[in-house]
Amino acid sequence: MPATISVKTGSRIDMIDITSLVIGEVSKSGVTDGICVVYVPHTTGGVTINEGADPAVCLDIIRKLNELVPPNDRYRHMEGNSDSHIKTSLMGSSVTVIVENSRLVLGTWQKIFFCEFDGPRSRKAYVKTLKG
Ligand code: ZN
Repeated sequence: MPATISVKTGSRIDMIDITSLVIGEVSKSGVTDGICVVYVPHTTGGVTINEGADPAVCLDIIRKLNELVPPNDRYRHMEGNSDSHIKTSLMGSSVTVIVENSRLVLGTWQKIFFCEFDGPRSRKAYVKTLKG
């Protein structure tokens, strides 16, 4: 099994900075140069990379996602969480980051965010770091 990060989300829709947890797993892997894949095995939770300096960016992303994909909109899925599934597909289920000199090569303002769209729940993300 790949390394697993546990995430407890606090509300129905939430973006949680997991960058330091990913860095911890890269460090444990012992890989100094290669790539790191973060994969989320959920259908109503995803992962994305975006600005972590100003928390307003995540709030704007969440507000716009809610406008684009409202909770109620004549969906067919009986579970009642179609918006969560659609938002997850929009964000995606994985990100890949280059690892160089044991560090994630992220832009100055970039952070890795777990995206919750049907919380609050206990979630997980897999982290695999490959030498190369
Ligand atoms: Zn569903």
